[in-house]
Amino acid sequence: MTGEPKTPDKFTVINELARRRCFYWQSYEIYGGVSGFVTYGFLGTKLKQNIEKKLRELFVNKLGVLEIESPVIAPSKVFEASGHVGHFKEPMIECLKCKRRFRADHLLREFAEIKESEAEKLSLKEVKEVIENRGIHCPECGGTFGEPKYFLTMFKTTLGPYSEAVGYGRPEAAQGIFVEFKHLYEMTREKLPFGVIQIGHALRNEISPRQGLIRLREFTIMDLEFFFDPEEPNCFILKDFENETLRLVLAENKLHGSEEIVEVAVKEALEKGYIKAEWQSIFMALAKKLLIDLGVPAEKQRFIEKLPWERAHYAVQSFDQEVYVERWGWVEVSGHAYRTDYDLKRHMQFSGTDMRVFKRHEKPVETEQIVVKPLMAKLGPVFKAEAAKVAKMLSEADPKEVEVSIRKNGYYMLGKHKVLQEHVEIIRQKIKERGKRFIPHVVEPSFGSDRLVYIALEFAYHVKDGRAILSFPREIAPVQVGVYPLVTKDGLPEKASQIYETLINEGFIVECDETGSVGRRYARADEIGIPLGITVDYQTLKDNTVTIRDRDSWKQVRSRIERLPELLHKYFRWKVDFEDLGQSFER
Ligand code: AMP
Repeated sequence: MTGEPKTPDKFTVINELARRRCFYWQSYEIYGGVSGFVTYGFLGTKLKQNIEKKLRELFVNKLGVLEIESPVIAPSKVFEASGHVGHFKEPMIECLKCKRRFRADHLLREFAEIKESEAEKLSLKEVKEVIENRGIHCPECGGTFGEPKYFLTMFKTTLGPYSEAVGYGRPEAAQGIFVEFKHLYEMTREKLPFGVIQIGHALRNEISPRQGLIRLREFTIMDLEFFFDPEEPNCFILKDFENETLRLVLAENKLHGSEEIVEVAVKEALEKGYIKAEWQSIFMALAKKLLIDLGVPAEKQRFIEKLPWERAHYAVQSFDQEVYVERWGWVEVSGHAYRTDYDLKRHMQFSGTDMRVFKRHEKPVETEQIVVKPLMAKLGPVFKAEAAKVAKMLSEADPKEVEVSIRKNGYYMLGKHKVLQEHVEIIRQKIKERGKRFIPHVVEPSFGSDRLVYIALEFAYHVKDGRAILSFPREIAPVQVGVYPLVTKDGLPEKASQIYETLINEGFIVECDETGSVGRRYARADEIGIPLGITVDYQTLKDNTVTIRDRDSWKQVRSRIERLPELLHKYFRWKVDFEDLGQSFER
């Protein structure tokens, strides 16, 4: 049988390159490999670290955001309070023949061409109907599917040997911040707004992960929680970002089946109410900048607003930042959610810890307070032994609610106890309030490092004269400089070692490669994305100069060895173009 072999797509090519060149590969290969887990090799680890460093530069250092590190495992209470135990589920369907399990919404997207936003809206019954009506069968063996059901995608465990001490692996790092809010707030001298970030592993027991770094069961999440006073929601650095444009796909257009991109400046997006919180808009602008810095042009990015049923349970508005990739089209790289006071409020309810902050009024404000006074002489004969308990419950109840109910119904129910008008005295008294207590609101940008690693690789990858090159932006390249002796004799390797030492001491990430022809070494360097190569040749021995080669243009210039540190700092730190450095490279 003849036929053109199918050209592998970028995803396949990059995964193969990543494995061969020690960026990353599937974990536990000696035991057959396990989907959804990867091991990063030395190049992948460095690339990931550089990406996280870039994010820290943009989101953490400049905004004075605090970074913390909390545990990966939490007692079940934390995720009951956050709502994850109730909501962090995906619809799953099992093939009755081969027993393989799939995410039902992904199957509908792939085989019934139902949009994600539509698929997420369907009940289990509706999912089943679509599967049956469209005749969708198991993509692995052609078998028929059983009943769809929900699968909790958190990893469950027990804490110690007690089966009742249930714990979960965190599916997001955010809760580790919320539960510590009180302490963190006190440490920041009780001032709003302030942000806290956590970069660490998250666990999600994805049903059938088949997308490499895009969908893992253990991945690195970067959750930034930015707390602000909802009565003072203005962002004091908005001016710096207001003219930055964002490409938005709005929920109102999605409702009419359109994914039209509306390109607007941040300022306009806020004025038109497209983005609800000012702080959220600047994080979106920063997210765009981060992706540009990782090599993704603006036109390959968009922010798509989630419809109410697509949003996480905690959000009143959220956008996914998406990047266009060859195999899957638009893929989410970060989520931008306005979580309001949802999480802190829930932890306050579940833990009994007051998560409110105190805001002092400029001048004390006189207000009228309703006070419900239990009349023991009346409660005693009616509630007898329980009278004291009822009185205590009354003093803890919301006085306004008690008054409204008594006025409307003639009574107020305290659990099973019916309190009547004659049991209480309701009085109004004037008090001077020095301030008020409230729960701060939160906007959250949340990134996955692993997706960003894949995106950086896909956008860096290209082929020139039949050779693969990873043209990483110079700040994220895992190795910055390669040093190559032309031959392994006549003192050239020794000279190369000296240069290597000097550059390492200057803080550069350098590698010295002596094996094979220099052409092959350049090819390997290009394939792992080393921006600059320094070659030591016979002329070096005569005049102490070397050539510097640019990975992308393959141009070369000569420089004196003693000038290398200065030139390389200019190139990496001050981002001077290779061409512009050309003059300085002259002897
Ligand atoms: P989410 O909380 O689902 O909005 O996720 C926040 C970010 O984490 C996403 O924008 C992704 O970049 C990343 N992410 C989510 N799930 C996974 C996963 N299974 N594997 C890798 N990255 C993920």
